[in-house]
Amino acid sequence: MPTILFDSTIFGPVRSRRLGVSLGVNLLPVDRKLCSFDCVYCECGLNASSRRAAPAAMPTRAEVAALLRERLLDMARTGVRPDVITFAGNGEPTLHADFASIIADTLEIRGSLCPQARVAVLSNATQLHRPDVVEALRTVDDNILKLDSGLTSTVLRLDRPQAAYGVERVVEQMRQFAGRLTVQTMFVRGTIGGEPFDNTSAPDVDAWLRCLDTLRPQGLMVYTIARATPLPTLVKVSRPELEALAAKAAPLVGSVSVSD
Ligand code: SF4
Repeated sequence: MPTILFDSTIFGPVRSRRLGVSLGVNLLPVDRKLCSFDCVYCECGLNASSRRAAPAAMPTRAEVAALLRERLLDMARTGVRPDVITFAGNGEPTLHADFASIIADTLEIRGSLCPQARVAVLSNATQLHRPDVVEALRTVDDNILKLDSGLTSTVLRLDRPQAAYGVERVVEQMRQFAGRLTVQTMFVRGTIGGEPFDNTSAPDVDAWLRCLDTLRPQGLMVYTIARATPLPTLVKVSRPELEALAAKAAPLVGSVSVSD
């Protein structure tokens, strides 16, 4: 399966399915994926395909600031204005040791060079035990946190956390944002490890709705796989089904978007 690895720290601008004209920031290595999850649908591929003998090199805080400033100045010269500066890339951005400082730098650079742009972080929410990460996420415009199920057993199969994980604990950590977050949920079905998988099942959806009721997030993004996945036994959930799931969640969230 072709995987998508970003070969630079700043990428794009690209037109995002969910975010508009997005200038991407990849705080991860440019030669491999680095993530605290190993989702079977990950467009960067499975973690095993990223094992290397050489240690992973992350961009420094100073490099990120310089590259971002340079790209925004280039874009301004050509008359392109980003709708959003998005932290995503080859894995989990909050794993960067200087994540909080980089966010602070980015907000400053955004203020001086493109004040209209939002700053978004796409995170899998595994680092919310770190106060510096939580404080940084409080300062961004779009704090987008993955929650693919309300059942720990489902997350363990679908997202394959690389450390101890429990949905209850993560939801409790997400409550620190007092609703200033967007929950992002991937719905998919098929087989994983030869066993049927479907996180649109009634127990999954009931548990997911209970999490949303606890969190009352300002936003919800419901989506499904858009292209081939590292595990080839997954299939899309149809748009009408996604819309039905979004409709169930709508009373519990500020706004809902659906992508297929
Ligand atoms: S959290 Fe994102 S980057 Fe990490 S494995 Fe899952 S899809 Fe890939």
